[in-house]
Amino acid sequence: MVELLYLDDAYLVEFEAEVVDAHAPLLYLDRTAFYPGGGGQPSDTGIIKYGDSELKVVGMEREDFGHVIEGELPRKGSRVKGIIDWERRYKIMRTHTAVHVISGVAYMNFGVKITGNQLYPGRARVDLSFESLSRELVEDIIESSNEIIKKDYKVNVLYLTKEEFINRPDLMRVNPKLYEKYDQIRVVEIVGFDAQADGGTHVKSLREIGKISLEKYESKGRKNKRIYVVVENA
Ligand SMILES: [Zn+2]
Repeated sequence: MVELLYLDDAYLVEFEAEVVDAHAPLLYLDRTAFYPGGGGQPSDTGIIKYGDSELKVVGMEREDFGHVIEGELPRKGSRVKGIIDWERRYKIMRTHTAVHVISGVAYMNFGVKITGNQLYPGRARVDLSFESLSRELVEDIIESSNEIIKKDYKVNVLYLTKEEFINRPDLMRVNPKLYEKYDQIRVVEIVGFDAQADGGTHVKSLREIGKISLEKYESKGRKNKRIYVVVENA
């Protein structure tokens, strides 16, 4: 099993690892800090260094944690160094936590549900569902989200057993069946505000997000709206 270093340290940029398998263009390591993609968060990019060579990691295979490499792959057993594109990843982390704040505010203050999201570095698409959802309501949600960010709550990662998880319906914003195969469920908690089952990478405290603004508002029917938000330095 590959050790997934990003799960417990989202700020890890460089790591050393051993090649356990390689067949072009996929490189498999015994440990990695590269996020494989999932939950709306795109996979990481970066470089793998070995000897004097520097290989580009253009993405990850989500299913089996294969690093998609440009160039000639090192052999099985080689020691390599991985370095993730931190500028891009940090923007994605800020955006991911921002979407959790929006989701918490939308759900708790306004009864609005988030039905999907896609993250990009510094930008996110968020789908919302609510009776008679208006642009004004969305603007209120964004404004309240920025107020929450100013409170600078800490963000923690914790693990619950399946039993503990089932007794916390507030953590379940997605289909509970998705979690049936896990013994432990990873929860990302904005302390004192919101907690959600989540496998992604997040900032440590809300101020790191900066400021959220509404970029685009699209109506997909009376109940369903799609918005695009931008995350910038406050
Ligand atoms: Zn998430």
